[in-house]
Amino acid sequence: MEILKKRILQDGVCFEGGILKVDSFINHQMDPMLMRLIAEEFVKRFSDVEINKIMTIEASGIAPAIMVGYLMQLPVVFAKKKEPKTMRHALTTTVHSFTKDREYPVSISGEYLNSKDHILCIDDFLANGNAALGMYDLIQQAGAHLSGMGFIIEKKFQNGGEVLRRKGIRVESLAIIKSLDDCRISFE
Ligand code: 5GP
Repeated sequence: MEILKKRILQDGVCFEGGILKVDSFINHQMDPMLMRLIAEEFVKRFSDVEINKIMTIEASGIAPAIMVGYLMQLPVVFAKKKEPKTMRHALTTTVHSFTKDREYPVSISGEYLNSKDHILCIDDFLANGNAALGMYDLIQQAGAHLSGMGFIIEKKFQNGGEVLRRKGIRVESLAIIKSLDDCRISFE
């Protein structure tokens, strides 16, 4: 997606350890006009699969997910990083955070994810795939069907994309970064 790649080159900031900061338009301050274009691209790419619900993980996946849900006119559910006492029929898994380098539990209510669902997962980044595998695990626990996973940015030099595609998961990433070596952003 050319407009997204241009924006990443213009406003993205590269950090040691293969981290790309996009806080000025995706992760902290957000650009809703760009987010809408991003969501339109996801809608186009997943137009051939059955979807009845969008799923993401707290917190940075919520903005793109809700925009996709709005355009597709579908509900959006997000896995929570803390299981509230009031959550009914909770499904839980553990995710390793790439940016914080620690494990954390994520939960979703079986009231909002069940065996009738055809799920499209949306997230901001795909790095090692741990957040995505956490969502996949919750979907499997619920007996739901995973229709596909869409990421705004995939870092190809990490192996998440390979892991998910090897499992037969349909993965669509709008900007694929080949390398952040020497803090230079290069796309595939
Ligand atoms: P994974 O679970 O695939 O290793 O990492 C994905 C999650 O970690 C994303 O949901 C995102 O929040 C965060 N993440 C991974 N890499 C980056 C990065 O380079 N920059 C930012 N801002 N977040 C990242």
